[in-house]
Amino acid sequence: MTYFFETYGCQMNSAESAALALVLRERGWSAAENGESADLVLLNTCSVRQTAEQRVMGRLAQYQALKKKRRGLGQAFTLIVAGCMAERLGDSLREKFNAVDYVMGTAARSVFPVILEILEKGQTSGLMSTALLTGEKPRFSFSASHLEEGPAGQTPFSSFVPIMHGCNNYCSYCIVPYVRGREISRNPAAIMEEIRLLGERGIRAITLLGQNVNSYRFDDGAGGVTDFPALLELAVRETEKSPIRWIRFLSSHPKDLSPQAIRVMADHPVFCRHLHLCVQHGSNVVLAAMNRRYTREQYLELVDALRQAMPGITLSTDILVGFPGETEEDLERTLDLMERVKFHYAYMYHYSPREGTAAYDLPGRIGEEVKRERLARVIALQKKHTQELLKQRIGSRETILIEGISRKNADELIGRTERDEMVAVPGTSTAAGSFVQVSLSSLRGNTFRGVMCSNHRTKEELFYALATD
Ligand code: SF4
Repeated sequence: MTYFFETYGCQMNSAESAALALVLRERGWSAAENGESADLVLLNTCSVRQTAEQRVMGRLAQYQALKKKRRGLGQAFTLIVAGCMAERLGDSLREKFNAVDYVMGTAARSVFPVILEILEKGQTSGLMSTALLTGEKPRFSFSASHLEEGPAGQTPFSSFVPIMHGCNNYCSYCIVPYVRGREISRNPAAIMEEIRLLGERGIRAITLLGQNVNSYRFDDGAGGVTDFPALLELAVRETEKSPIRWIRFLSSHPKDLSPQAIRVMADHPVFCRHLHLCVQHGSNVVLAAMNRRYTREQYLELVDALRQAMPGITLSTDILVGFPGETEEDLERTLDLMERVKFHYAYMYHYSPREGTAAYDLPGRIGEEVKRERLARVIALQKKHTQELLKQRIGSRETILIEGISRKNADELIGRTERDEMVAVPGTSTAAGSFVQVSLSSLRGNTFRGVMCSNHRTKEELFYALATD
């Protein structure tokens, strides 16, 4: 039997889709080329913006038509909607699209094997009520592994490792706490076991994942508590025994990033010298209305502390413009903060009202045209900063993790720096999965072109060099 996934939204959705696909592969299913030929189609959805939901609605309409067509050819297939939109809209999705067989909310993934059993027995859908799948939610449980299958079945060299689920912050514009629930921190032993298994599979880089990783806190109920800095220390020790050489973590919330976490990061070169630290806005008035619980001054102090502890560390961020009540002066404060920090890159978007969030009923909504115009200014400034920062690095030597052959040029390899920048270098696929030193020679768009350094050192030599440089 075959499956086909469409995954929308954040890295957490990518990790969860990878975990579901792993369950299927372990049961002998294989990936189909597309939805037209699959026995099972799953849409793992996002609700963070209206546009994300509209895109899925469009896809569901297409699958509704496909189901009718394939039924006419005597080919049944099962359609599952999972993720945040499934959690938010529940059974109303089946009422709107009767092609949908199961609506699987964010906490209901543990029911997935039950669905597969029904399908593998050749029974048709509808035998399990949506209420069972979403209403009476089984308690959220983490999957043991989130290793994504690479293109053509190749094993990738990096993987996400979710460490927590949900969020307690209730930023006033955000739907996440309503669709993913309150924070659940994963057992550190399970996290270390996943890291150990990933190392055995040849993974070189991992990303610890959570909506707000800094508030990670696992209480074993016997007086033992593991907070985020302690978890980072455990990850250092676990990776010392494996080929994993790079650890990233995201997303970080400025109000919870502690001096202890910064110190652990600074003490161990296994932590990439890049951090995604979501600022969202540069005006204290708007930050307060967003319920972010820090000020621009506190954010800038944190940036200074990071740069003192790790000179040369780069930062990326999220920026939201057009929040209700935002003035021209507020936007100027955001542009000014961007000038002060010089982010390496940023995810930028304009406010999208989400029903059920605290900001939804706020007065002072800003018109689409003004929102787009303000977003365009923020994007233009960030583009300028990104280009400036990337150009400064031409001529420097960098360690990159080779991911494989470039899709655009078979004589080139594609790799990434610890700042997640793309680098294209001439070479053969034998280097895939290895860390090499390259000299950055030019920039095309946001991708560097580089050459391997003649005396590039082995992995151990490299990281010994990094630790002592
Ligand atoms: S920290 Fe705020 S923006 Fe991020 S997921 Fe939680 S509520 Fe949403």
